[in-house]
Amino acid sequence: MSDQPVMDGPTRDAAEAARGFMPADEGMALFRAGVRAARAVPGAPLLEVGSYCGKSSVYLGAAARDEGTVLVAIDHHRGSEENQPGWEWHEPDLVDDDLGVMDTLPWFRRTVHRAGLEGSVVAVVGDSPTVARFWSTPCALVFIDGGHGEVPATVDHDLWTPHVAMGGLLAIHDVFPDPDDGGRPPYERIYLPAIASGRFVEVEATGSLRVLRRV
Ligand code: SAH
Ligand code: MG
Repeated sequence: MSDQPVMDGPTRDAAEAARGFMPADEGMALFRAGVRAARAVPGAPLLEVGSYCGKSSVYLGAAARDEGTVLVAIDHHRGSEENQPGWEWHEPDLVDDDLGVMDTLPWFRRTVHRAGLEGSVVAVVGDSPTVARFWSTPCALVFIDGGHGEVPATVDHDLWTPHVAMGGLLAIHDVFPDPDDGGRPPYERIYLPAIASGRFVEVEATGSLRVLRRV
C-alpha cells in the first residue's frame, strides 16, 4: 500500500480530456485525497456536490474504483448562476434547445462512460439541499464544488460537512483567500467556517483546492 497513490494513465487521460473546471494538478490532488479518505474510512462512499460535465468525477471515481467504493456525484445539471447565459462561465452549447435551459447530464454520462467508470460513479440528479435532507450515510470524503454564491456555499457547508466521517476528508474547490484571485463564498462560507468549527484541520492545498481532515 503506497503512501503516494498513483492514478492509472488511461483514466488520467480521460480526466484531462473531459470538459470542465478542474486543472490537472488539482484533479490529481483530488484523486489522492479520494484514495487516502477511502483507506481511512473503509467501506464509506466518496461524495461530490457539483459534477458539471464529470471532470472532477473522473478523478474521484478513479479513487473510488481503486479502493473498492463508489463516488456519489450530485448535480441538478442545470448549471450554477455563473453558468447561465450572460454570465462569465456560460457555455452556449450546453443549453437544451427544446427547453432553453442548461443540461450537462449528457456530457457527464459521456465523460464517465469514456473513463470506464460507470461501475464506480453513481449520479444523483437533483438539488443539493434537497438531496442532503434525505442523506444519512457517513462519507469518507465530501467534495464541495457546487453553487459559488453566498447562499449555495453556506447551505452546502451547513448540510454536507456533517456527513464527513471522523478521519475522513472535506475537499473544497475555488478557495481564494485573496479576493483578486476569485469569488469569496467558497473561502468565507465553507473553508473558514469549517476550520473555525474545530471539526476540521487543513492537510493539503493545491491551487484553489483545499483538503481538510475531520478530527
Ligand atoms: N466539479 C466540476 C465543476 C462544477 S461547476 C468540474 O470538475 O468541472 C458547478 C456545478 O454545480 C454545476 O454543474 C451546477 O449545476 C452545480 N450546482 C450548482 N448549484 C447546485 C445545486 N443547488 N444542486 C445541485 N447542483 C448544483
Ligand atoms: Mg470549481
